[in-house]
Amino acid sequence: MATNEYEGVLKKIEELTTNAGQIQDEVLGEILSRNAGTEYLRGFLHGQTEKQLFKKNVPIVTYEDLKPYIDRIANGETSDILLAEPITAFFLSSGTSGGQPKMTPVTAQVTKNCELFRRLYESPVIKHFGDINQAGKRMELMFARPEIETPSGLKAASVSTSIYNESNFRTILPKLYTSPIETIFCPDPNQGLYCQLLFGLIQRDEVVTVGSLFASTVLRGVKFLENHWQELCYDIKTGRLSDWITDLGCRNAASLVMKPNPEQADLIENICNCKSWEGIIRKLWPKARYIGCVCTGVMRQYTAELEFYCRGLPLVSAFYACSEAICGINLEPLCKPCDVSYTFLPNMAYFEFIPVENEHDESIEMKRNDEDTELVDLVNVKAGQCYELVVTTCAGLYRYKVGDVLMVSGFYNNAPQFQFVERKNVILSVDQEKTSETDLSKAVTEAKALLDPLGFILTEYTSYVDTSSAPGHYVLFWEIKGKEGKHCKGLDPKIMVECCSKMEESLHYTYKIYRKRNIIAAVEIRVVKQGSFEALMDYYVSKGTSLSQYKKPSCIKSEEALKILDSRVIGKYFSPKLPL
Ligand code: AMP
Repeated sequence: MATNEYEGVLKKIEELTTNAGQIQDEVLGEILSRNAGTEYLRGFLHGQTEKQLFKKNVPIVTYEDLKPYIDRIANGETSDILLAEPITAFFLSSGTSGGQPKMTPVTAQVTKNCELFRRLYESPVIKHFGDINQAGKRMELMFARPEIETPSGLKAASVSTSIYNESNFRTILPKLYTSPIETIFCPDPNQGLYCQLLFGLIQRDEVVTVGSLFASTVLRGVKFLENHWQELCYDIKTGRLSDWITDLGCRNAASLVMKPNPEQADLIENICNCKSWEGIIRKLWPKARYIGCVCTGVMRQYTAELEFYCRGLPLVSAFYACSEAICGINLEPLCKPCDVSYTFLPNMAYFEFIPVENEHDESIEMKRNDEDTELVDLVNVKAGQCYELVVTTCAGLYRYKVGDVLMVSGFYNNAPQFQFVERKNVILSVDQEKTSETDLSKAVTEAKALLDPLGFILTEYTSYVDTSSAPGHYVLFWEIKGKEGKHCKGLDPKIMVECCSKMEESLHYTYKIYRKRNIIAAVEIRVVKQGSFEALMDYYVSKGTSLSQYKKPSCIKSEEALKILDSRVIGKYFSPKLPL
């Protein structure tokens, strides 16, 4: 983006946020006037297009409600049963946060919105870090998944894969990124990752940003590097690609650029061959200005470890979006991951919000049904209040619950800014109690603090409810790493037992009451071997999840995934006493 172009985009952001209310009404008006005649909306609006009627008659739905329509289109019926604009493809959601991947329609308008969105979220970043597109290249870890063809002949792919397939992206790739297209589309993610790190290291003097879509993938890259840096250095020194890289695309791409470079290999070897890997990203890519990846939501658990590896380089979460809708951008790219807010873009969809009460607030006697709840418009949300996000899009989603809970942190002009709170559906529950992702994360944060002074770090965790014995109990899988080469075998079992107790003490009121009444049994922590969470990621990737869009589930629901972790358990610990 040229300087005057990004300044123009910043002006556009001013306009959009200033006129948020009016733009939202226009967006809804246009969606309704185009689509009122579809089979789906006709059933509720009888051809009418008034906003009030829409709010009164169109139901709030989940993916399951729209799935029959989407499946009909995928099976060959015309797309106008759901939307007037022709469907050109489908986006597949990652599916790791809520079960199966979901298919959402893509239209020409969606593609146009995606292009505009990229310019909108990049402009604040360019304002703060300079024009990275002119300054050098991005070392971005990217992984495409094979497309699926629906019976109707339409293609279905993850959003990221669709982007990597665009001709525009392929044109700019060699100039702006270190990874050749063949490494992004390599069918074996490990070969792709090895080659992307190799290309990133070969071009390290040109790299101005390091990143991936999500923080977990950047960390995966660093850990892979920890295991493979000697081999990578050998390849750079000799100018020959390791034999286990059998993918022809990767080999061809490498043959075009690799030549023996012993000086560069020695420099990298010296950097990697030190005891502590603190600040390793900064040392390996000294011109990098920031690390770009989503660090909010479930990714927050990775920020401490990433900060260790990047030592002082800012972590930039530039946007909040999902396969179903584009939502917001971060106007303060320099702020800490825990403070990141996303300013909603009123031109991307029509947004409504279901107020969310605190699940554990004893004063709330009964939770209201969505039908009884008045949905709040974008410009009418209240600061400090939490809401569940509902979107109506140009692509056939009408009053669709995304499943994310957000908190209003403020306003930019007239557009609200939201902090990501949690996925609505990720909870543990043995009986009537509901433990949200945030509840769990708070308890884990308290408990893991006991490990820090002893030189151990909790690097990954997930959970599930074990009801194989009565009463059921919460199980946490923890992967623990010793600082500076310490082995986690040296960890005192007493500390792990204390961690279990701390977790229980830190959980919410209802949980503790149920524990005392023996409705729930003691929390269990199962410590797993190093690399177990990588095996979990490999499993989901083998099942079709894109490595770029992978989000580790906070709660395991699949039997197979559970087996992967259970087969790697090296110690089991229980809380010995009731929580206070
Ligand atoms: P997908 O359906 O695979 O496109 O994933 C979209 C989901 O990823 C969203 O509904 C959120 O739960 C999560 N997500 C996306 N962007 C962010 C973000 N910036 N912060 C936190 N969570 C995010």
